[in-house]
Amino acid sequence: MNEIIDGGRIKGGFLISHMKWAKQQSHFDITQKMNGHLSAETLAILDSVILATAWYPFKTLIEIDRTIAQATGGDDSATLFELGRFAAQVTLNGMQKVVAASDPHKILRKQVWLHKQLVEFGNSEYIEIAPQIGRLVRSAYPWYSPVFCQGLLGYYSEAVTMAGGARVQIKETECICAGSEQCVFEISWRA
Ligand SMILES: [Zn+2]
Repeated sequence: MNEIIDGGRIKGGFLISHMKWAKQQSHFDITQKMNGHLSAETLAILDSVILATAWYPFKTLIEIDRTIAQATGGDDSATLFELGRFAAQVTLNGMQKVVAASDPHKILRKQVWLHKQLVEFGNSEYIEIAPQIGRLVRSAYPWYSPVFCQGLLGYYSEAVTMAGGARVQIKETECICAGSEQCVFEISWRA
């Protein structure tokens, strides 16, 4: 899997929720354990007051996520999935109307709009495939990382759960990091 992370910006909300999750999960001081593995630039950002609505380098998020995964131990992809799930809870709890609609298609459609608010680059599109199957396609990404895609699996999965979908199944069937033109997420659920 490839990645290009030396450009692009994301909203600070990602950094805040991921650090919060890491602190909640650990029985030890995770920030201390992470510090030795973070670049000076990332350490400076973590030392500052991070604003949820301000832009930060994409690579800061990837560096933090990777370090959290290593510091917490266990399966990296499972940790990144959990980070994504938690970020969805934090982000979507503020969108009561959408969540309360109990319509997974609606909450997934909303991600296309949300994408533009939270990530400065790339396009996304949502396609309803069947009453309980949807597809999110993310394309034209100059910057990408499998760390980010793994988090999105958790994020979208939790979004569907929050909107009332049960037994959610999600798979990334194509990925830019693996040489594809786009990242394709297939999601299904039960009522
Ligand atoms: Zn991908």
